[in-house]
Amino acid sequence: MTRDDFAALDARDPLAPLRACFDLPGGLIYLDGNSLGPMSHAVRDRLVAAGDRWAQRLIAGWTEEGWMEAPTRLGDRLAPLIGAGPGEVLVTDSTTVNLFKLLQVALQLRPDRRAVVIEREDFPTDRYLVRSVAAAARREVRHADPERLGEGVDQDVAVVALSHVNYRTGRMLDMASITAAAHQAGALVLWDLCHSAGAVPVDLDGCDADLAAGCTYKFLNGGPGAPAFLHVAGRLQDAVLSPIPGWFGHDDPFAFADAYAPAGGIRRFLAGTPGVLGMAALEGALEVWDRVDMAAARRKSVAMGDQVIRLVDERCRGTGVEVVSPRDPGRRGSQVSLRHPQAMELSRRLAAEGVLPDFRPPDIVRFGLTPLYTRFIDLWDAVEVLCDLLGGL
Ligand SMILES: *Cc1c(COP(=O)(O)O)cnc(C)c1O
Repeated sequence: MTRDDFAALDARDPLAPLRACFDLPGGLIYLDGNSLGPMSHAVRDRLVAAGDRWAQRLIAGWTEEGWMEAPTRLGDRLAPLIGAGPGEVLVTDSTTVNLFKLLQVALQLRPDRRAVVIEREDFPTDRYLVRSVAAAARREVRHADPERLGEGVDQDVAVVALSHVNYRTGRMLDMASITAAAHQAGALVLWDLCHSAGAVPVDLDGCDADLAAGCTYKFLNGGPGAPAFLHVAGRLQDAVLSPIPGWFGHDDPFAFADAYAPAGGIRRFLAGTPGVLGMAALEGALEVWDRVDMAAARRKSVAMGDQVIRLVDERCRGTGVEVVSPRDPGRRGSQVSLRHPQAMELSRRLAAEGVLPDFRPPDIVRFGLTPLYTRFIDLWDAVEVLCDLLGGL
């Protein structure tokens, strides 16, 4: 393969026109869209419009501009991207807060089971929360290898909490078979979809998933600190209560009643006032997704991952760099992670050369593959810079 071959891949790419939807700084190869997606023009327009509405409508915005309904409206809009149905997804709070709520919900549903299963290598917030929630509820934390879950999940387990795609390695789990195995043992599964939403096709309902949460500022491009989402299967919603019984999850918030009465359905998982400006930005970000066929995005993402791995194998041989993401695209999310003892210095030098990856301690350089705006030629150029730098380390 040559650089021209990569240019030819771009010329044939059906998603190539979407790049024009984004406001990307010139001269930068941005491979960090899995940490913070870029701003689309639609987001800027929505933010300006939301500011105008705030200025002009003031308090009337809550009732007349759809601010109250934003968490459910955006939840329904996001739901198809993760295979959920209407009324099953809420956009609210942060992933961390939503995971906290859903862990508690899972324990409410399995009061007599004493264990929570997690993966030792999961994202820190997930591990911190599980340890804390389990300790407060007098449950034990068990570590299991998610690829051999059958051994770790038995009649003692209340919930298995897992990231569908591992943030560090990009390893993707088989959601359907893991959910089925957990259900077989009577356990629930809480999926963290931070590196899945907008990155890989997800079919929560098709997997009979119970609970899920994730963020919208990575592959979905909702903006820094964009509101997160949570999913509770419709069949579970009315059987549980939010551990944060705020007034926005009340059946009638503006009755200012003394007693808490949960709203019916997904709205009971709201806590407090939604961040309307963040919601407006996310609404703009999802407009771009309206034009995206997730299967086509996945095809491009897989092709990009395969090409990066092939280029690194061919061109960086003998430099001490190692591909740690699964080579089987069926087991890989939308990133390629490379291991090198000087990964931090390498990331710094890549950034100085206009190639922005992510560094994950101690030794991982992560290339986020974002098919809406990354070109194949960018990947060629990025690996070229990588190989040059590796030679000089
Ligand atoms: C990014 C990420 C989070 C982030 O949680 P916030 O509450 O949005 O900071 C959580 N879990 C995983 C797996 C992530 O990748």
